[in-house]
Amino acid sequence: MTKTTRTIVSACLAGAACRYDGRAKPDADIVSAVQRGEMVAMCAEVLGDLPTPRPAAEIVGGDGSAVLDGTARVMTITGDDVTAEFVAGAERVADAAVALGATHAILQDRSPSCGCGRIYDGSFSGTLIEGDGVAAASLMRRGITIAVRRGISSPHEASA
Ligand code: SF4
Repeated sequence: MTKTTRTIVSACLAGAACRYDGRAKPDADIVSAVQRGEMVAMCAEVLGDLPTPRPAAEIVGGDGSAVLDGTARVMTITGDDVTAEFVAGAERVADAAVALGATHAILQDRSPSCGCGRIYDGSFSGTLIEGDGVAAASLMRRGITIAVRRGISSPHEASA
């Protein structure tokens, strides 16, 4: 079967109410593109079997790449370790993207899963650091180019 080139997009940008707070963050252009079948929406945290709504989570001790390498953790604001769920969801998104023949992904800024180039620092204080979310890191390791609203980041190249 011939693979088709598709773009993966964060499901919350496509209108799915899958954010930690049970809300969506719809982008009208992305919603339309998904409805036309030009993009495929996925939520790494839902695919990691986390409930919605769920406690806010941040990466502690590094970024998404470090989480994949086992040197950083994903913790909720209530103190639960959700690293396994975040890694499972990230790998499921990346596996699906490869199976679809995707070359690009448009992801939600600053998320511990979808963030690319900047994420929160794990202190739940609103402080940003350089780094990628777990799903973004997994996608980049498969050679998929990530776009966020601030611009384009090629694999292994953090955006400004
Ligand atoms: S994991 Fe990604 S798609 Fe899912 S709610 Fe968070 S930012 Fe949106």
